[in-house]
Amino acid sequence: MMKWIGRLGLLVLIGLVCLVGVLLWNTARYTLAPTAQSTGGAPLLRVGAERVAAKLGNALRHQTVSSVDPNSVRKDAFTAFLDQIADDFPRVHAQFERRLISGLTPVFHWQGRDPSLPPVLLIGHYDVVPPLLNNRSQWAYPPFDGAVAEGHVWGRGALDNKGAVISALEAAELMLETGFTPERSVWFAFGHDEEVGGARGAQQVVSYFQSQGVQFEWVLDEGSMVLDGIVPGLAKPLASINTAEKGYMSVDLVARSEGGHSSLPTDELSVEILAEALVNLRDNPVPGEYDGVTKAFFDAIGPAMPFGQRVAFANSWITRGVLASALSGANTTNAMLRTTTAPTMLQASPRENVLPSEARATINFRLHPRDTVDGVLAHLRDVIADERVDVVHDGSGRPASAVSRVDSAGYALLSSTASAVFGDVIVAPGLTIAALDARHYQVIADDIYRFNPFLFDASDLPRLHGLNERVSIDNLVKAVQFYAAVIAAQ
Ligand SMILES: [Zn+2]
Repeated sequence: MMKWIGRLGLLVLIGLVCLVGVLLWNTARYTLAPTAQSTGGAPLLRVGAERVAAKLGNALRHQTVSSVDPNSVRKDAFTAFLDQIADDFPRVHAQFERRLISGLTPVFHWQGRDPSLPPVLLIGHYDVVPPLLNNRSQWAYPPFDGAVAEGHVWGRGALDNKGAVISALEAAELMLETGFTPERSVWFAFGHDEEVGGARGAQQVVSYFQSQGVQFEWVLDEGSMVLDGIVPGLAKPLASINTAEKGYMSVDLVARSEGGHSSLPTDELSVEILAEALVNLRDNPVPGEYDGVTKAFFDAIGPAMPFGQRVAFANSWITRGVLASALSGANTTNAMLRTTTAPTMLQASPRENVLPSEARATINFRLHPRDTVDGVLAHLRDVIADERVDVVHDGSGRPASAVSRVDSAGYALLSSTASAVFGDVIVAPGLTIAALDARHYQVIADDIYRFNPFLFDASDLPRLHGLNERVSIDNLVKAVQFYAAVIAAQ
């Protein structure tokens, strides 16, 4: 018997040693994917830093704030912006065919030499969110002055998204100055209502292209940047070229009970029933997995992580469960792993001394590419399982976008160009957790990538839709070089 146990122990020991060996072997072989740092042999374009900074300053001076209420939109600011870019990019406006969609979203066509090649499309938006006017004095430079100071251009829209729009236009303008013509056609579309859903801008642009039978090889939109010090543990900046964006849906939970006078509360109050349901939901999130676009992202950045994490990412065949629960622990990685659940609006009694007969909560979900609207609803009903609570869904909502390919020529070009412009960076295919104009375009493009070529660090995060939005002039120069190199390859 003892001998038998001894043999078993020996076998377990040998098994463990083998396992550790396999884990370490996988870790040793797990290295960063090589990214060609090339722009096809062409040197990066020489860019006049002051010139592009001044043009962005001009663009930021127009208060192109979009709104869901069309009556509150200052249309004159949008037309003034369009006049401004016509002045600042004369060659683009003289040589490209320009069309205004819904009167305010410009689409430019740079005719390529070979019309048989599928074209590419660069998109962005020039509408902005309001500048938090209550805090106007907290802006170091007023949000619509377009100040060029301290090595930066300051103002609402500098990062989101006029900086990219102006950089792409400047790249085209400079290339026209050199007499360049691309082989395949390059199109540009700059939406005027992205921040409020893109119904009159991007959606109508897509209808226009459909009516013309234009299908793109790829589309490039905003959606991520070169993230510096944003991912904990990552030693190098990360060019996250996002291949998908999450979906969106909202659902109401409605709990009912007897109303009455608050001096005589009953046993089961609608607010308490609703609160129970909300706690239940928090404790039972939509399941997340270490797979798909999430796995592709961590597979790409894992080799640059500290040793312990590297072992885990290199051996996800055995650690995927551990990885999924570890990544669920931080809100940023949790949002990459699963459909998120966010109760956002609560409604009950209109008066402090009245028991509400109905309590209502609105839950906002951001759908991971693996989930469907129906699947999330089924999960929600399963978790609530309380006949006192109605799950009310008006049929709206949408799944996540399709996931674009990473083995395409387009992805390879964007990756190698990011490396050529930004130097020693990691390139990874990521998931955009917010909603963009890009989602409208998937019906007319094989692949859609979401990436703005700006170096972005933790101090920039609160500036997005926040105070003191700005972009460095150095970033603008790099962005122009990036777009120029991408166009030069067409
Ligand atoms: Zn944006």
